[in-house]
Amino acid sequence: MNDLQIANSVAPLPIQQIAEKIGIDTEKLEFYGKYKAKLPLDLINEEKARQSNLILVTAITPTPAGEGKTTVTIGLNDGLNRLGKASIAVIREPSLGPVFGIKGGAAGGGWSQVIPMEDINLHFTGDFHAIEKANNLLSALIDNNIQSKTRNLGIDPRTVLWKRAMDMNDRALRTTVVGLGGKNGGIPRETGFNITAASEVMAILCMSKDLEDLKERFARIYIGDRFDGSPVLAGDLNAQGAMATLMKEAIKPNLVQTLGHHSAIIHGGPFANIAQGTNSILATKMGLSLGDYVVTEAGFGSDLGAEKFFNIKSRSAGLSPKAVVLVATIRALKYHGGKSLKELTQPDVAALEKGLPNLQHHLNSLSSFGVPVVVAVNVFSSDSEEERKLIVDYCQNQGVSVALSEGWAKGGEGCESLGSLVIQAAEKCEKSFTPTYQLEDSVEEKIKKVAHTIYGASGVEFSSIAKSQLKKIEKLGYGQFPICMAKTQKSISDQEKLIGRPTGFTITIREFEIAAGAEFIIPIAGEILRMPGLPEVPAAESVDISADGQISGLF
Ligand code: ADP
Ligand code: MG
Repeated sequence: MNDLQIANSVAPLPIQQIAEKIGIDTEKLEFYGKYKAKLPLDLINEEKARQSNLILVTAITPTPAGEGKTTVTIGLNDGLNRLGKASIAVIREPSLGPVFGIKGGAAGGGWSQVIPMEDINLHFTGDFHAIEKANNLLSALIDNNIQSKTRNLGIDPRTVLWKRAMDMNDRALRTTVVGLGGKNGGIPRETGFNITAASEVMAILCMSKDLEDLKERFARIYIGDRFDGSPVLAGDLNAQGAMATLMKEAIKPNLVQTLGHHSAIIHGGPFANIAQGTNSILATKMGLSLGDYVVTEAGFGSDLGAEKFFNIKSRSAGLSPKAVVLVATIRALKYHGGKSLKELTQPDVAALEKGLPNLQHHLNSLSSFGVPVVVAVNVFSSDSEEERKLIVDYCQNQGVSVALSEGWAKGGEGCESLGSLVIQAAEKCEKSFTPTYQLEDSVEEKIKKVAHTIYGASGVEFSSIAKSQLKKIEKLGYGQFPICMAKTQKSISDQEKLIGRPTGFTITIREFEIAAGAEFIIPIAGEILRMPGLPEVPAAESVDISADGQISGLF
């Protein structure tokens, strides 16, 4: 059975029954059909949230073989529930880009999925649409102001950084010209589209503490400059009120269920290469308020997702994970050991051994946060016994706790041993995490610390554009923000071909972007696309719906 068939083989329980299990009164639920509901923000209890256990799931360097963080997150959540812990999975909403592109959905896999899987992967509760609208409202206000004779702010159209957004992989929109059609069509200027998951509105939603904070952050969005060089903010266009109004439902986290009928909260979905790569702070706090454990995921490898989870999200929200689960697969480690995708299903202990330094690097850099780490070996049917033993021995020999994670094949039952290790780790953890840098450090210093401690780089170089932007960032007063590194997810370094455990490399910062509303500075290493394209054979071509409404081809 494929993921969709497995998901459809389990009848979901009415969402009020799921809510009841975690003590939510049916009165409180805002229903979106029978199996989805929004949760009002007054269910968040800051004090309870501080006492509960936050478990972060991250991974080794991702490969085209797929690591399975979401799958492990959901499996572990159900495993913890089977062990008697009130645990809630808190994850991101899928973007349609990957759904119709190459990667497929993001609702887990096998017997570790969230349902209703089709809804979650498609329009869900409309949050992405609201984000897109709020984003595009600001774009419309900008172009309208550039056109205006009486209320013109003097925006230099060539400096406008704010782009329109759409949740689709559509490379043709990456760079566009707007304002054609003569005098009534606006002032022509070059601009483009970001995919919604890479938009600042998405990043802001996921950093916001409440509706008021969301609105204030919208007002602080840095759009571009006036002809006199002074900055223009969204607040100068009085955009924040209407933008926040469009987000009044989208700000509320969404409740669904896992295949094991346990609670899952899904909210927000920023990408991890250009943004912070994790669900909203509100959803995480909601989960911690309603359960004793929250299992959550941060995108891509630990060098991107976990680093940002600690240094950006946790610091800002006053959260501290009690344990980190590092997902590794034997297939991916063989890939890092030099094997091609086609060869990964063949047992190859030598290649696995050669790939282990990648795992070791993630263990080393994660140890800098001072939070206990548990390795989860996400088991594939193609793994051999010998390979499994090798990786388990490798971890145990250095005192690292490790478990096989069989959630894909067996659901929560397959994650009980992982769950026990996670509980042990969380119960032992008494300290808050140690951040990689201080907010008072200069932007340059922050980048160097991340490059050194997290990537193991030997140095950082800045292009001349980056150097002059650095001065501007400090001058505009954004120097105290945390940094949100934008780099390839395919390597620990900034060069995607350097798989395994590269050493002796330098990180090159090409330029910076400012996300003043989300409150971070984005140093860009290499080419990072905010609007991806579709692959040669898009997943969309396999998606279909029958006359009676049966969907196929989502995975
Ligand atoms: P991530 O969150 O790391 O991107 P996912 O959990 O979304 O990864 O998994 C990626 C894909 O790999 C999904 O299609 C999922 O069904 C599949 N997958 C994950 N774990 C396994 C496994 N143990 N065996 C087979 N397929 C798996
Ligand atoms: Mg995922």
